[in-house]
Amino acid sequence: MTELPARRLLLVHAHPDDESINNGATMAAYSAQGAHVTLVTCTLGERGEVIPPGLAHLSGAALGEYRLGELTEAMRALGVDDFRLLGGPGRYCDSGMMGLPDNDDPHCFWQADVDEAAGYLLDVIREVRPQVLVTYDENGGYGHPDHIQAHRVAMRAAELAAEAGVPIEKVYWNRVPRSVGEQAFDRLRDALPDLPFTKTAVLDDVPGVVDDERITTVVDGTAHTAAKLAAMAAHATQIEVSGEYFVLSNELAQPVFTTEYYELVRGERSGTPETDLFAGIGDPR
Ligand SMILES: [Zn+2]
Repeated sequence: MTELPARRLLLVHAHPDDESINNGATMAAYSAQGAHVTLVTCTLGERGEVIPPGLAHLSGAALGEYRLGELTEAMRALGVDDFRLLGGPGRYCDSGMMGLPDNDDPHCFWQADVDEAAGYLLDVIREVRPQVLVTYDENGGYGHPDHIQAHRVAMRAAELAAEAGVPIEKVYWNRVPRSVGEQAFDRLRDALPDLPFTKTAVLDDVPGVVDDERITTVVDGTAHTAAKLAAMAAHATQIEVSGEYFVLSNELAQPVFTTEYYELVRGERSGTPETDLFAGIGDPR
């Protein structure tokens, strides 16, 4: 096996686009610093709503294939070479929004056996030996079944990795501090007349918002703003970007966060706040 860089970061996400929205600046920053960044995406987002009218004919497997192309382009923008689909492309499909009959599709990720899915992730962990894992909180940030399941699978894989002798030293959940979110929405409301969007979302629509005191770690990715915006724009079926704002298919404008925030949930905190996901991690294995 070729020698991997000393610092190795693993991110687990539900659909293509989640990585760029949540962690695009972090991924670009660590990649630029020479860390090995691995993205594992659990589904191809086959049940996503398509924004551009010219692509509205895409659905199901055809949409999944198209979104894999968008993901590839987004990873090029972020400088990330190592991105994979959990269990291989098409192993798990998108479960759709919570409460829909789609949730009962036997191939969907919501129906996955958590240990089996975590086993696929453990294979990646054995290969890459990441010191740091990033995923969602127990509510998946906002309650989408695939996001909740991604959380469960990532946390289970972290347990299995410890048992298997390839422990992950630090586990983080994606967060947005409430005060930062409020300020960003204030700026968005001021900017709205100059944007091609008509309405704003509300802070409660943003995944992972918590009280500021829960934030342990702040990654300043502002130097990588252009890369993050390009990665988000690459997911054109799902996201429309204008300046440092964007909409999803609900057409409600949201701010792009280029400083990204985390809550450390496993491992030793090193700094108040930490400014590096690898803070305190000793000599690389
Ligand atoms: Zn998603």
